[in-house]
Formats: sequence, structure tokens, C-alpha cells
Amino acid sequence: MDMFKKVPVREQDPKVRATNFEEVCYGYNKEEAVQEAQRCIGCKNAKCIEGCPVSIDIPGFIGKVKTGEIEEAYKILSQYTSLPATCGRVCPQENQCEGRCVRGIKGEAVSIGKLERFVADAAAENNYSQQAPAPSNGHKIAIVGSGPAGLACAGELARMGCDVTIFEALHEPGGVLRYGIPEFRLPKQRIVAREINNVTDLGVKIETNVVIGKAVTVDQLIDEEGFEAVFIGSGAGLPKFMGIDGENANGVFSANEYLTRNNLMSAYRDEYDTPIHGGKKVAVVGGGNVAMDAARTALRLGAEVHIVYRRSEAELPARVEEVHHAKEEGIIFDLLTNPVKIYEDENGWVSGLECVRMELGEPDESGRRRPQEIPGSNFVLDVDTVIMSLGTSPNPLISSTTKGLEVNKWKCIVADEENGKTTKEGVYAGGDAVTGAATVILAMGAGKHAAHAIYDYVTNK
Ligand SMILES: Cc1cc2nc3c(=O)[nH]c(=O)nc-3n(C[C@H](O)[C@H](O)[C@H](O)COP(=O)(O)OP(=O)(O)OC[C@H]3O[C@@H](n4cnc5c(N)ncnc54)[C@H](O)[C@@H]3O)c2cc1C
Ligand code: SF4
Repeated sequence: MDMFKKVPVREQDPKVRATNFEEVCYGYNKEEAVQEAQRCIGCKNAKCIEGCPVSIDIPGFIGKVKTGEIEEAYKILSQYTSLPATCGRVCPQENQCEGRCVRGIKGEAVSIGKLERFVADAAAENNYSQQAPAPSNGHKIAIVGSGPAGLACAGELARMGCDVTIFEALHEPGGVLRYGIPEFRLPKQRIVAREINNVTDLGVKIETNVVIGKAVTVDQLIDEEGFEAVFIGSGAGLPKFMGIDGENANGVFSANEYLTRNNLMSAYRDEYDTPIHGGKKVAVVGGGNVAMDAARTALRLGAEVHIVYRRSEAELPARVEEVHHAKEEGIIFDLLTNPVKIYEDENGWVSGLECVRMELGEPDESGRRRPQEIPGSNFVLDVDTVIMSLGTSPNPLISSTTKGLEVNKWKCIVADEENGKTTKEGVYAGGDAVTGAATVILAMGAGKHAAHAIYDYVTNK
């Protein structure tokens, strides 16, 4: 075994998987996991833990995998996270735990994410039990939103004995895990539903189809419904558009709508009536994880797909693994290319996307080289569908209906980074609602930290 290299993970063949919605990555089996775990040297001052927003005892759980004690490994893991099978699949480990792993100095970092996934999947297959919650303390807490921030906050409070209710606007819990990230990266029934069950098994109640700010306000939850504190984890689900000509044409979607139709409303399955305009030639505008997900979804629905991104490959914000998978499956990357106009046919449907070629100039305030147009380089991309994936911002519904809750100029809720405390007493917030679109693990970290602050608040009032 080469100690400098990761044990490779088995994946579905790119040609086959481009035509189905089955999970791309098969993960490790026990033999492979134990072998990979041997590469961890169990550092005393483990840098990988510093890179994990929920501070998982990584050498601790990997040490148990090494000796084949998978149930013990799960016991350690479940003390830190309620969503290990999810995080093992979608976290950007290369920038977090694995980015700090000492093994990465001379070779490849330990595959911490794949080991986490293996342990979580083994726990589900073998029905390993998680840590039991503390006895009930009677403190009643409301959580707005059932994404990773809300679920992490709820799970942590329930473990401490609180009586927790999550209010979710949609008909299914899970937030972006349910409606945004596609089935082929994160299976909904097998993984997401199962991890949500882990949270409800701790006693957390989830009320779906309740839009806070419309059905009931945050103030009413506190003043009339007897909740002692509220955590807002309502995410950043409001899509941005470019403001170019033709953006109202039929066949132009936000990535959020396109993915929600497919994931939450199961449009890709024959037995569902949800309509979706798959398109024959699709342009996805943007270069993040969401753009990759939309592109790979359109591909699986039968389209030729172009990613249109105004910077170069080095600046693509999507995970390296996602870009690699997208390329393997046949997505075409039109880099240093920026849309300027959408053309419509006589019936108002998209008939082309005019773009201009770009080149990189001096670095801008983000440190990335600023893209600038090459004059006279315009051309028309022959597409019938355009999916805009330019980022999202928080929906202002909650902030506009909650007295004394401050937001910044991007409509993000102002909250203390350490503990999620907002400008309104008893109200805490975290995840994308505070930071703008970010990552699952950062949202979970924020939910977890806020849970401890909420516990201190309700028990010391
Ligand atoms: C397509 C896509 C792919 C992504 N891929 C990755 C990835 O690979 N890795 C990664 O780490 N991150 C990824 N992300 C980002 C990650 O999913 C988010 O950062 C994370 O889900 C944020 O969690 P959250 O709990 O703050 O919000 P969300 O997951 O957005 O959950 C918020 C929940 O609140 C509910 N809600 C909103 N308003 C109300 C209201 N008024 N009343 C009641 N409920 C309300 C929403 O319906 C939603 O269920 C991706 C995001 C998208 C969109
Ligand atoms: S830094 Fe790498 S080798 Fe060290 S404990 Fe963490 S995973 Fe193991």
C-alpha cells in the first residue's frame, strides 16, 4: 500500500451515470476504510480538527476505524454531528479538515470525508444507536427552517434536554439538502431522510408547511406560543439574476427553481407530474457548486450542457471534485465568457445566448483577477434554455416581520459570529441567513454554537 496516496474510491462509470440519477460515488467498503484509516498517524495536536467547523475528534474516530471498531467510531462521530453521512458526501473537505491534514504535506491527505461517510453508512445499516439525550428540562425552543443550521441547532438542544420544535416552510424538511443538492450526490430517502430521523429520534418535532412571518411571526412564537427562544436558520433562498435583456423569456430559470422542481418535486421521475423544461441545449451561467449541480441535472435530463463562466478554471468556486465529475460526464466549459443578451423566438422562448469573451486583468477586492471584456468578441451560443446560477440572498420575509431584528445591506441577519445572538433578545440566527450562501458544515457549526448560547440563555434567565 502506498502510504502517500488515498485508497481510491469506487464510482459509477461516467458514461453510465450521465444517464441516471443514482449516486455517483459508491464510498469505501470496510476493507478499504480500514486500509485508508491506517494512513492516519493520530497526531496529538491534530490540525485536521482545527479545520473542522464542528471540531469532530477526527483522530479519535479514525483510530477506531483502524482497529475495525466501527460502532465505537460512530459513537465518537455522533457526539459532534447529526449529519455525518451528509457531510461525508458534500463537505468541501479539501479546504477544511483534509486541507490541514499533515499527510497532505508530502502526499495526499487522509480521506477524512470518505471515512466519515463510511462510518455513518455502516451505522445506518447496522442500526448503531446514537448518544441518548439528557432528561427533559422543560425549556421550549423554536427553530425556523430545517436545513443544516436548524437541524444542528435542534439536535444539540434536544441532546441537552430541551423541548424543540422546527417550523419549516416547505412540505419536506432538509432545506438545501432536500431541494437543492441532487439525488446523484446526496440520496434523499437513503441519506437525508435517515439523518433527519436521527434528529427527530432525539425528540425534536418538525412542523412542515409553516411559513414563519406569514402563518405566525417570530414575535408571536415568543409572546403567544410560549417559546423561550427562537433560532432562525432560514437560509438564503432568493435567487439573483443578471439584469440582461431577454431574462424574462420562457426557458430562463434560476438554478434554485430548476433544482427544486427536480429534487423536491421529483420531476425526473416518470411517476411524478411535475413539469420541467429539460431543454436540448442548455447554458448554465455561473461556476459554483450550484451551477455544477444544475448542469449535471440538465445533462441527465438529456441535454447538451455548457457552463458559461466569466473567469478562468483556476477561479471556479465549485469544489474540484464536482468540476472533475462534470467534465468526466461531458459538460462543456465555456470559460472567460460572459452573457450579455438572451434572444427569444416568435413565441417568447429562448433561441440563443449572446456572450462576450473575457480576459483577466488586475486582482479586484476579492483578490481574484478581474475579468474584462475583449471588445468585439461577441458571439451567440445556440441554446434553448438558460439556467442562472449567480448566487442567492436571504428572503427578507422574516426580518421584515420581526421587530428589532437588524439586517445588513445584503438582507443577511446581523448575528454574533461566536454564538448567533441577534439584535433582538431571545432570538438567535445562523447559517446562510446570516452569512449569505455558504456551506453545509458552516451552517451546522453556526447552529451548534447558537444551541449552546440558547441553552445558557434559557437556563440563566
Ligand atoms: C444546489 C446547491 C448545492 C450545494 N452544494 C453544496 C455542497 O456540495 N457542499 C456544501 O457544503 N454546501 C453546498 N451548498 C450550500 C449549502 O447547502 C448551504 O450553505 C446550507 O444548506 C445552508 O444551510 P441553512 O440551514 O443555513 O439553510 P437552508 O439549507 O437553505 O435551509 C433553510 C430552510 O429554511 C426554510 N425557510 C426559509 N424561510 C422560512 C420561513 N419563513 N419559515 C419557515 N421556514 C423557512 C427553507 O424552506 C429551508 O428548508 C449547496 C447549495 C445549493 C443551493
Ligand atoms: S492531521 Fe491527518 S494524520 Fe493527523 S490526525 Fe488528522 S487525519 Fe490523522
